[in-house]
Amino acid sequence: MRIDILTLLPELLESPLNYSILKRAQEKGLLEIVLHNIRDYAVNKHRQVDDYAFGGGAGMVMMVEPIDHCITKLKGERPYDEILYLTPDGEKFTQRMANYLATRSNIMMLCGHYKGVDQRIRDHFITREVSIGDYVLSGGEIAASVVVDCTGRLIPGVLSDETSALTDSFQDNLLAPPVYTRPADYKGWKVPDILLSGHQMQIDEWRHQQSLERTRRLRPDLLQEEK
Ligand code: SAH
Repeated sequence: MRIDILTLLPELLESPLNYSILKRAQEKGLLEIVLHNIRDYAVNKHRQVDDYAFGGGAGMVMMVEPIDHCITKLKGERPYDEILYLTPDGEKFTQRMANYLATRSNIMMLCGHYKGVDQRIRDHFITREVSIGDYVLSGGEIAASVVVDCTGRLIPGVLSDETSALTDSFQDNLLAPPVYTRPADYKGWKVPDILLSGHQMQIDEWRHQQSLERTRRLRPDLLQEEK
């Protein structure tokens, strides 16, 4: 899978996308992340990328031309399954959307700044608008890194234990059960006996019951949602 990210601050994305699982995914050749500095596509001699809003008001707007040039160049090189714009008024990002994105081949992501991008970019290029939550960040980079992190670990072959992602919270609309590791007794704080019993079927059933109980208690709304 290839992800192209269009940004004014590529440095902000370099570190979060180059550790741990995402780093391994890139080393294994399962994920390629390419950062594009929108400023490199600026048209005037000041390399201007933002301008005042028509109609007045506070805040700058990212200009249509540099973004058009960057997107159009990339689209000429390969087909894109989705061109995402990270924006607080977009569709809420979910595990389900990550599952979907993880099975695409080429995705572009556009990070906004200031008051956002000129609406014409959204109207003519963007196929999907995505929000990571009901709050306003200063730029789209942190939102993009959330989407890439979440999606990247779901790409087939990325996690060494193939079943591991399937038992995470939100897969099946259930929260994950509690987990424990050694020592089995720490200061008298004991691991539930069932987990030490060796009866795999009973352990699986216990975990499922724990997931259900947690979900009912902490996120009853998930049990109402259909998958
Ligand atoms: N004026 C806009 C907010 C702009 S915030 C509004 O009120 O809707 C600047 C940029 O940060 C946005 O263009 C977007 O790319 C990013 N951003 C801010 N909050 C976000 C969120 N919750 N999810 C995804 N991207 C977000």
